[in-house]
Amino acid sequence: MSGTTERLRAIEAVTGYKPISAPLSFSEVSAEELFGVNVFGKSAMKQHLPKDVYQSVLQTIESGSTLDPSIADSVASAMMGWAIEKGATHYAHVFFPLTGSTAEKHDSFLSPDGEGGALTEFTGKTLIQGEPDASSFPNGGIRSTFEARGYTAWDVTSPAYILENPNGTTLCIPTAFVSWTGEALDKKTPLLRSMKTLNQQAQRVLRVFGHTDPGFVFSFAGAEQEYFLIDRHFYFSRPDLIASGRTLFGAAPPKGQEFDDHYFGAIPGRVLAFMLESERELFKLGIPVKTRHNEVAPGQYELAPVFETSNIATDHQQLTMVTLRRVAEQYGMSCLTHEKPFAGLNGSGKHVNFSIGNATAGNLLDPGDTPHKNAQFLVFCAAVIRAVHKHSSVLRAVVASAGNDHRLGANEAPPAILSIFLGGQLTDVFEQIAGGGATSSKEKGSLTVGVDTLPNLPKDAGDRNRTSPFAFCGNRFEFRAVGSNQSIAGPLVAINTILAESLDYIATRLESVAGDGDLLGEVQTLLQEIIKEHGSVIFNGDGYNEEWQAEAAKRGLPNLLSTVDAIPALESPEAIAVFEKYGVLSKREMKSRVEVYLEQYLLSIAVEARTTIEMARTIVFPAAVRYQGELASTYASLKAIGHSFDTATLDAVTDGIAELQRACGELESAICEHDFASTLDHARHGRNAVLPAMLAVRSAADRLEGMVADDLWPLATYQEMLFIK
Ligand code: ADP
Ligand code: MG
Repeated sequence: MSGTTERLRAIEAVTGYKPISAPLSFSEVSAEELFGVNVFGKSAMKQHLPKDVYQSVLQTIESGSTLDPSIADSVASAMMGWAIEKGATHYAHVFFPLTGSTAEKHDSFLSPDGEGGALTEFTGKTLIQGEPDASSFPNGGIRSTFEARGYTAWDVTSPAYILENPNGTTLCIPTAFVSWTGEALDKKTPLLRSMKTLNQQAQRVLRVFGHTDPGFVFSFAGAEQEYFLIDRHFYFSRPDLIASGRTLFGAAPPKGQEFDDHYFGAIPGRVLAFMLESERELFKLGIPVKTRHNEVAPGQYELAPVFETSNIATDHQQLTMVTLRRVAEQYGMSCLTHEKPFAGLNGSGKHVNFSIGNATAGNLLDPGDTPHKNAQFLVFCAAVIRAVHKHSSVLRAVVASAGNDHRLGANEAPPAILSIFLGGQLTDVFEQIAGGGATSSKEKGSLTVGVDTLPNLPKDAGDRNRTSPFAFCGNRFEFRAVGSNQSIAGPLVAINTILAESLDYIATRLESVAGDGDLLGEVQTLLQEIIKEHGSVIFNGDGYNEEWQAEAAKRGLPNLLSTVDAIPALESPEAIAVFEKYGVLSKREMKSRVEVYLEQYLLSIAVEARTTIEMARTIVFPAAVRYQGELASTYASLKAIGHSFDTATLDAVTDGIAELQRACGELESAICEHDFASTLDHARHGRNAVLPAMLAVRSAADRLEGMVADDLWPLATYQEMLFIK
């Protein structure tokens, strides 16, 4: 069939697909050899840096000590040497603006030598500080144009790496991005600050439990990434996917995700080829990807790495998204990381698995199998429960975005209510504590709390619950409400900070009795208090169930359905107090973030609304009118020769067209309103007026899709995008 529309040409092209990349030869270099080859990590540094300089850098990385500026020149020159060996001509300071994306500023190593030649140069000063022309990045009022400078500052703790391109490579240096007054303009700065404060408070609790030299306590994160893959031809035939990352039109396919044949089914060959190559690319960057499988919806997949410290996991997560998109292109596909690219099908999240600990103290969220560890574990676990309950609206706010609104609080879970799944066994233990039934006793040498009679907690609690936004998974918590397109930095900053506050509270209580006092008695009392006051956040039932909404309301748990409801929690006095107290974000920084996030929300809705109107008017409407014309002329011709013709379809199409035009008109007036007292008011208007008006246009168009002749329908359908590979 020769295609008459973009859509049909796309289908033809898809079916004639030939791989762009040459097949990889796995026999040449093993995955092991590849791992980290493009990273200036510990082993490269050890090899390239003078011994004392290496020790000094290592000290900063592993124990959070301040970087010694005098070593910068030495590191810079070694780094440049290493990069040039790998073909680098440029270096880039990579930073993470508040949009949640990754930004790079590239500079050449070459500098004029003043005699008509050039020399390669990369000094400590350039390594430590850069000044990107980044005035276009959102700052929420922190930088006005007259003080528009923004600086990037080298993050020693996240290794530099090489970005490959067939035409040359670039040395990338992870950096923080701050204003000239030192205020955070990015996602990394507060993350580093929050890790520091969490360490301080966790160390205090560990000292109470007898760890004299606990070492830097890190938070760890492992982020599972869900995404969709569709053929590039379909992607380019859909202006909505290009502009907004999701389909703004499209009727549900006859075969949705009702058949469980996709999830954990065989991975299609082309997709597997893409996965193998992206994993190789990620390996080279030292990103420990581990798991891959199909996800629930057709065309949906998941990738999970082995967990790393929060900061590195976050940088690696950003790189993972970039790499998936890039490699997908090479295989003629598009990787969609939007939270809800296809209405009516499972959306994509990013489960952020979280734990804290270090090499000496182990994983502090691991129940372990000795009574001593159990007591300590229960304290850390209670700290999480208290933190999530006290600051659930902060956790809700940091996962709020226009895209994620289509998952949370919409027709899909996890719900917008932030509750904790603990599992039957652990809940039982805490219930015993709350009931006072578990009495404390002291045995020689080791700490026991009555509840330490609990058996070895299985690491994989059998009763896994997939409907909970914050679930205990045997040795970590899994924050499942995070959106697939979001940076995991925000969620990690929030968890680190609120957990630090709880640990501070706990440490203060326990320190007062540590030593000669009745530590175990105090642990018992404290756990009891915490569970009585904050236990209402624990919910092991089905989070999708409607009864949960009513039950949660009774328990006083917030249910913030959309971004506009959720974001303001970030400037509540309680939120500002905790972020300020622990030095993570100042009031001004918090307020600027609220402004930026609301602006991002508005921008996203504005783009979607304009795209909806344009596609309705210039793509859907003409197709429908053409079909209407065909029907009308058939009707007229038949009538002329005395035949009857059932006009039901013509009538329905005519109604549909009228409905489409009316809905477009309403959407146009909705986006034309401009008189708003605040960004929040404007955002509310977006949710209350613009989004419903967009949906009305969509529903008129989707009905037409079910009527208009297939060869006239211009947009690739759900069926085609999801099932033709
Ligand atoms: P599932 O899909 O069942 O949730 P996966 O194996 O896909 O499990 O993902 C689990 C994620 O949790 C991985 O990224 C893994 O590295 C991470 N993880 C495991 N243990 C920890 C831990 N102690 N701290 C943080 N993340 C962890
Ligand atoms: Mg998971």
